[in-house]
Parts: sequence; C-alpha cells; structure tokens
Amino acid sequence: MSVKPSDMGMLGDIPAAEMRAALHRMAGWAADYRETIETRRIVPLVRPGQVTAGVGAAMPDDPEPLSEILGDLDDVIMPGIVHWGHPSFLGYFGSTSNGPALLGEIAAAALNVSAMTWRTSPAATELETVVLRWIRELVGLPTSFTGIVYDTASVAVLHALAAAREAAFPDVRARGTMGRADLPRARVYASNQAHSSLQRAMIVLGLGEENVVRIDTDTAFRMDVGGLKHAIADDVRRGYLPLAVIATVGTTTSASVDPVREIAAECRARNIWLHVDAAYGGAIGVLREKRHLMDGLELADSVVVNPHKWLFVPLDFSTLYMRQPEALRALFSLVPEYLRGDASGQRTASEGEAIDYMDYGIQLGRRFRALKAWMVFRAFGRSGIEARLREHCRLAEQLAAWIGKAPQFMLCAPVVMSVVCFRFTPSGMDDRARDALNEAIVDAANASGEVYLTHSRLAGRTVMRIGIGNVLTTEAHLRAAWDRVLAECQRLHAV
Ligand code: PLP
Repeated sequence: MSVKPSDMGMLGDIPAAEMRAALHRMAGWAADYRETIETRRIVPLVRPGQVTAGVGAAMPDDPEPLSEILGDLDDVIMPGIVHWGHPSFLGYFGSTSNGPALLGEIAAAALNVSAMTWRTSPAATELETVVLRWIRELVGLPTSFTGIVYDTASVAVLHALAAAREAAFPDVRARGTMGRADLPRARVYASNQAHSSLQRAMIVLGLGEENVVRIDTDTAFRMDVGGLKHAIADDVRRGYLPLAVIATVGTTTSASVDPVREIAAECRARNIWLHVDAAYGGAIGVLREKRHLMDGLELADSVVVNPHKWLFVPLDFSTLYMRQPEALRALFSLVPEYLRGDASGQRTASEGEAIDYMDYGIQLGRRFRALKAWMVFRAFGRSGIEARLREHCRLAEQLAAWIGKAPQFMLCAPVVMSVVCFRFTPSGMDDRARDALNEAIVDAANASGEVYLTHSRLAGRTVMRIGIGNVLTTEAHLRAAWDRVLAECQRLHAV
C-alpha cells in the first residue's frame, strides 16, 4: 500500500506500514550494497557542486514520500560516494565496515538512547563498560586501566592532555589559565611521526601549538629517546614545564612503534604524563606473536586504542584507557540540576557500580556506540578477530616481498603491522622529480577507480602507502593493486 504525502498528515511519525516497507527496502539496499561493493568504481566521477545541485538548494516545504527520498539516495547521493568498504580501498588504515557492525548501527539508530548516565539507559552504559573490558583484555592492557569511549582519538588525546594539565596545575578547572603569571609554559613532546591531532588538542586547551616539541626519529621512524631527554632537559633549563610525552604505537604513515618502555622511564623520572597513541597499533596486541610491540604500555598514564581503525568497529569508536580515571571525573563531572535525578552520584569509577559516563568528558549526550562493537566481537569472536588481523599482517608482508623483488622500487620503512610504504626510484631522475612521479602514480592509480592508495612523506621524500584493514581484502585484491601501480609506473615513466 502506498501512502501519499497528503495522507500522512503533518504530525507524528511516518505511518507504521509505510515505515516497515521502507525499512525492508533499506535492509535490502544495505545488503545489496555490501554484496556488490566490489563492482563499483571506488572514487566517484563527480565535479565539485554536482551533489549539491542534485540535492537542490532549498529544504522542501512539504513532506515528500519516502520512496522518492530512497530513490534519490541512489540517484543523487551514491554518485558522490567514495566506497571505503571496497576491498581494493587501501587508503589510510583500510575500512572497518562489516555485516555485524551494520546490524549494531541499525539497532542503535532505532533505539536512539543517550548513554550519558546509567539511568538514562542502563544497558547502554553497562554494555559500554563490558565492551571496554573486552577490548582491554583483547589487546593485552592490564586491568589497572579503566576505559571510556569517545568518538575519535583526536578527542581522546584532548581528554588525556586535559587530565595531564590538571595534574600539573590542579586549579585550572576552576581558575583557567588566562592572566595567570604563576603558570609556567607547558610543553608536550612527540616524535616527528606523531599524529597532528595532538596539535589540535593543544590549540583547544590553550596550551598553544608552538609548545609541541617534535623529536627526531631513527631510521625505522621510532622516537629517538636521547633526543627526547635532551629536549626535556633544555626546556627545564629555560624554566618550562614538561607536561606530557606522546609515544606512538603504530604511527600514521609507517606504523612504526616508539620505544615506550624507555620513554616511560624518562617520564617517571621527571614526573611527566605519558600518553600512548595506539589508535591504530593497539590492535596488534591481539596477536601473541606481535604483542612485544606493546611493550611498556602498562607504564602509561593514558592509552588510546581506536577499534574504528583496525578492530572492525566502524566509525566512530575510540577508547581511552586511563590509569586514574578519577582524574577525568574530577576534571569534568558537573551535574546540572535538571540531570540530578538521573545521575547516580557515584564518587568513584570502580567497575560494577553505576557509572555516569557523562562525568568523564566534555560530551553530555552520548551515542550507544557499544552496541555495534558488541555485535562485531560476538559475531567474529576473539579467534575470528585474531585470524583477520594475522591475515592483514601476512598480506602486508606479501606486498613487501613483491616490492623487494621489483627493480627500481624501494621499501621505505620496515613492515611492522599492516601498512606498507614504498617508492618508485627510477634512475636518471633527481629526488624531487621522483617525488612528483610517485605522487602522479598514486593519483593515476586512484583515478582508475579500481584501487585506492595514498601518498605520504617519509624522511622528506614522497612515498606511496598501502594500509590493509578491510575484512573483504584478499591477496587477489592486493595483487591487482600492485599490478595497477606497476602499470602506472610504466605508463608515466615512459612518457
Ligand atoms: N593517532 C593516529 C596514530 C592516527 O593515525 C590517527 C588518524 O589516522 C589519529 C590518531 C586520529 O584519529 P581519529 O580520526 O580517531 O581522531
């Protein structure tokens, strides 16, 4: 039965029968999308403004039928989509799309609860706590850490640094930092490979982007601890306050791993907060044979792990583990009168009690993110997660082996996880020309619509970069991507 817009009235929700039909259609749409994703061009052939023109400038005055809106999803929106879930999308860290996660998102959308306090939805809060424990155990973090879910690692580092700042200057929550002559200049140290989200956090916290001290890395792109010690000692001499060090386990470009244990020793000796950015790399702790890459994490004050990067939970889902979660609570807990009835008023974060997650960050309303993670972790199981991660590492090593055998190619960083950085270095060209060529190869390969990779910089030179993290990616996809790169090298270099 189709219902005309005029029949729907102007109040209430869409009639149940029409909604049910639309939901069935949508479920079929999503299933078809997943099943046919491989047949699509990865990057769309749209011009800037084309989607906007298709959508139309003005919001409709009158109701429109769902059938028409769903039709426009295909006609107007889909032509402007980059298919991140395509098995040959090898940009960034791959994509974490998968079936069980999709079910979790549908359920969370239907429920639309806010996990701000335990009472506002006990299951949302308790499942979050359970899933946080599962992840902690899965990646091998000790039980001395307690987690909280945020949307992204960028927001997680903001909270970690806010806690570090409060630990160093206990009354910032109340008095702020403006106009205070009693506060020294605070400095935060990270390698030259650390993610830029740190800078954003410094901007938001009023600590200043200039107070990020970038430390050099060694030939494997790991932080030089000697350089770190030197920079800290220098700052102390100048009267600055070393506030925090960010060590990275799995850097953005090459997945290199900083020597966390050594860094932690320096932090302990000088009473400096240690935050470990394991946003991508934390997943490696699932693999027993690679768990040594997590060495020293137990010494950190805070650790971020993003299941939306490599633990098969789609955007967005980031977990921050704190040794002293009360520090966050002391900093952010603020219960306005209208929420007092729903707040549990608990004073500690000890597990098993009614936690109000709104107390642990800047967000009040919080999505029921744990649902999708729970569905994925149950549907794949620990063994399934382990097998998939192991396969991604094997694929990365396989690609590295092909690169190793290809003349005029070089591997630009050790392959530690599921990321491979490489460069085409034909003779008779200077490095700047090679930079331009490598960038052009990536652009041309991506323009084919059959593969997607990214380029980045390592040691001052442009590199091509492939990240593997999609459950659909197989060796055949990787081989096809590599063949495409080789074909573009030949085509562009011969010109
Ligand atoms: N840390 C690392 C190592 C990253 O590679 C990234 C993003 O790629 C981030 C942090 C920021 O992640 P998010 O997008 O969750 O803020």
